[in-house]
Amino acid sequence: MPLLLLDLDNTLIDRAAAFRRWAVSFTAECAIRNGAEPTPGADVKWLIDADRDGLEPRDRLAASIQQRFGLEDRQQREILAELRGGLVENIELDPEVPAALDRARAAGWIPVVVTNGTVAQQERKLRHTGLAEHVAGWVISEGAGIRKPDPLIFRLAADQTGQSLAGAWVIGDSAEADIGGARNAGLPSVWLHRNRAWSHPDFAPTLTKDTCPQAITAIMTHIPAHLTEPGA
Ligand SMILES: [Mg+2]
Repeated sequence: MPLLLLDLDNTLIDRAAAFRRWAVSFTAECAIRNGAEPTPGADVKWLIDADRDGLEPRDRLAASIQQRFGLEDRQQREILAELRGGLVENIELDPEVPAALDRARAAGWIPVVVTNGTVAQQERKLRHTGLAEHVAGWVISEGAGIRKPDPLIFRLAADQTGQSLAGAWVIGDSAEADIGGARNAGLPSVWLHRNRAWSHPDFAPTLTKDTCPQAITAIMTHIPAHLTEPGA
């Protein structure tokens, strides 16, 4: 049974949209609290830039937020908890994603989530969205002790589900972690472009798609690996 090795953030879920929704409500609350005129545009943009698509260490981000929004009376861990909880609450799962996962499972594929992050936060996302019910399992870097692009993390996903990596595909939005990881593991991959151009001269995804359901459909219809798309 071939594995579908799926990234979580900005692949199965639209983390960027969830963060933006959280940032809009957080900045509005801060403005009210401080009795200031809301300047949502600038503050939301600042938060999105500071988040760096989730790559900024969370404690550093919480410290920056505390300073920017004049929250010295609040504990950094409270801000951190709000940041994490607020993100999860603002995820709106595209119903096409679980539908595509179910179609893949019905066709004999085994979807497993392989994500870099903390166990508590990533499991919270999987359970809150209901995605946990639509995949065969997950491997989270904090729990595994290794991160993508280390190819061993994909091997762990295979071992955990009692499968081999033969015929497996990787789907993800990160050139370095997902597509680089697939390359390191010798696996074909689909890159979700998110309106970015591919910029790595040394390696490339097998396919490039707009959304996760499109990626799953492309793999299931087994587009031969040499038919990569223009711009991929
Ligand atoms: Mg991602």
